[in-house]
Amino acid sequence: MSEIPVARTIAELRAHVRAWHQAGQTVALVPTMGALHRGHLALVEEGLRRADQVAASIFVNPKQFAPTEDFDAYPRREADDLAKLKSAGAALAFVPGGGEMYAAGFATAIAVGGPATQGLEDRFRPHFFGGVATVVAKLLIQSQCDIALFGEKDYQQLLVVKQMVRDLDLPCRIIGCPTVREADGLALSSRNAYLTAEERRIAPMLHQQLQAVAGALRAGKAPGEAIEAAISVLITAGFSVDYLELRDAETLAPEPDPGRGSRLLVAARLGKTRLIDNIAVY
Ligand code: AMP
Repeated sequence: MSEIPVARTIAELRAHVRAWHQAGQTVALVPTMGALHRGHLALVEEGLRRADQVAASIFVNPKQFAPTEDFDAYPRREADDLAKLKSAGAALAFVPGGGEMYAAGFATAIAVGGPATQGLEDRFRPHFFGGVATVVAKLLIQSQCDIALFGEKDYQQLLVVKQMVRDLDLPCRIIGCPTVREADGLALSSRNAYLTAEERRIAPMLHQQLQAVAGALRAGKAPGEAIEAAISVLITAGFSVDYLELRDAETLAPEPDPGRGSRLLVAARLGKTRLIDNIAVY
């Protein structure tokens, strides 16, 4: 099997996309940080259903990690990732170096509000969404893609990206895709590789407790009570819970608008690993 073409510069990426557009083809982009799993590949597959060509980017973005976080330890497996992208049907991998993405003297950032400042991930990772918005804006502009696909796994991030694309009039449609899970419910994540065998056994409780709260809410229980019960189950199992909250599914505001649906979102640490998950309630 021939290898997937790899663009390492913006000029190479644009040459591929220009050729596709000149041939009348539409282009989807799947931005990733690599260490690819079935969740990422589901985005590629959805891209192929919605566009003629799919390009995936692999870039571990330093701007979305705090100095105390896992930028250096983040798994990097380029050869394996390229093989997976090829077999999922992607036509191109964009793998820029740090200097290609952020040239010396880079001095611009995108400031985010709305869903980015609702006191969820932003409360624990204050630098995070500014870094995500900046790199995603660059990737959308660099690639000139027609659509870009993001996972609901990172639900707040998906809303932040949609808001940014609307606000900045970027000519790209953002598509959200359902979370891909292990058979026991654990959401696939590159960071699951950090879990010890014992932690991996406990980790699915995060999703189980989201489902328990959603079930209680649908049965008419008060949110506060159902959420407190789930948090105490998680703490007893060994999690440190950053948040478990019921939010408006579109704005992430604390009081869900019954007309718009609501979402339960959780972040919790298990040993050295920070896990996030979310599910729709209504
Ligand atoms: P990452 O490489 O973690 O930055 O993720 C790249 C993209 O894959 C983001 O849009 C994520 O939301 C998405 N993604 C990560 N894990 C999953 C999953 N389990 N199911 C669906 N999408 C995912």
